[in-house]
Amino acid sequence: MEKLSNEALRAFRREADDRYKAFVARGVCLDLSRGNPAPEQLDLSRELLNAASDGDYLTSDGIDCRGYNGGVLGISEARHLFAPLLGATPDQVMASGNSSLALMHDALTFAYLHGVPGGSGAWHKAEQQTAFLCPAPGYDRHFRICETLGIRMIPVPMQADGPDMDVVEELAADPTVRGMWSVPQYSNPTGVTYSEEVVRRIAAMQTGAPDFRVFWDNAYAVHDLNETEQERVASLIEACMQAGHADRPFVFASTSKITLPGAGVAFFASSEANLSWFCHHVNRRTIGPNKINQLRHVRFLGDLDGINAHMSRHRALLKPKFDAVLSTLDEHLGGKDVARWTNPRGGYFINIDLHGGGARRVASLALDAGIRLTPAGATFPYGDDPADQNLRIGPSGGTVEALRTAAEGLSLSILLAAADGHLARRASAL
Ligand code: PMP
Repeated sequence: MEKLSNEALRAFRREADDRYKAFVARGVCLDLSRGNPAPEQLDLSRELLNAASDGDYLTSDGIDCRGYNGGVLGISEARHLFAPLLGATPDQVMASGNSSLALMHDALTFAYLHGVPGGSGAWHKAEQQTAFLCPAPGYDRHFRICETLGIRMIPVPMQADGPDMDVVEELAADPTVRGMWSVPQYSNPTGVTYSEEVVRRIAAMQTGAPDFRVFWDNAYAVHDLNETEQERVASLIEACMQAGHADRPFVFASTSKITLPGAGVAFFASSEANLSWFCHHVNRRTIGPNKINQLRHVRFLGDLDGINAHMSRHRALLKPKFDAVLSTLDEHLGGKDVARWTNPRGGYFINIDLHGGGARRVASLALDAGIRLTPAGATFPYGDDPADQNLRIGPSGGTVEALRTAAEGLSLSILLAAADGHLARRASAL
């Protein structure tokens, strides 16, 4: 578009506008805003609901899952089964309630109110405002927890192998920086898996705060879209132990996108000191988790092979949807130099970066055309994408056909916004 004459650019804009208006007239309606498994994915876990209905509610160590007994760590079968997904040993794992986000909220709130092992007290009492490093684009709900607690967020650029570690190491030397968010595998939204080198540097870096914590949200630990090219992030717990910083990682995961989001099991894993700190505070707010649901999950999924087999059934449903969106973006935007987008090997999102900005305009044009995207800017701390260029789309909902249509509408919105952006820049340069 850069190279078009003014006249050719205006003609391009007219055509883009005509195509966009014709699309709006089709009256489509699709939500690409969140990574929400479609009903047929939820059906894959139908038997989960019957998996503890045979009258046997006892765990292998004799705990009756129907009662209060057993404590806050969860049943040992669940801790064993999911420990590898957390890069942890079973004794480092807590199997908890239905939401890993709730555990992250708990962990940060406990740190804020009470402080963490090895620290100098409650973070909220620190003389200077506590800050967190936020690789961006990242997960909007992480950023909202910080915002709620008044923790200052510092964006760090994401690269192809994880956050820019030169920037992370420099910023982490500041003693007010007490933590960092990470979605280390098939990241939300970029699809990036942190390299071994990045994991090693996060584990080994010198931090200004002695109580620095990495919130390691491995939400997409087994969520491959590609059968043959599976990516697996190294264990942060192991790397931190080797580097002499055993208390640095707070690791989280859940079965939300393995079984049922909202009715799954969430996990926290960390060092002995952190786990006992976490148990202590969790035990103030609950006597114990839903052990029946944990038992159901263990019986339904069985073992790691069972999890892998189950995930391949998800993949069979998800992959054609990603492919439909990607091929439609290629068809309409390929070679136009208006955007670049990811072709992720796992996770739930396609990340689009618009050349020359205009993400807010695109999201609004798409919405007018019946396509809901994650609000532009949401993938950055404070909702502020400085280049206004990042869009996140979650293609898991809807049918393949509907997704193809939605990706067409999105492409037309991008083309129209790009043409307008170019015209506006040329006008202001006059
Ligand atoms: N972390 C990330 C990175 C996610 O993408 C999501 C869901 N979209 C969650 C956490 C939420 O997980 P949960 O359902 O376990 O709270």
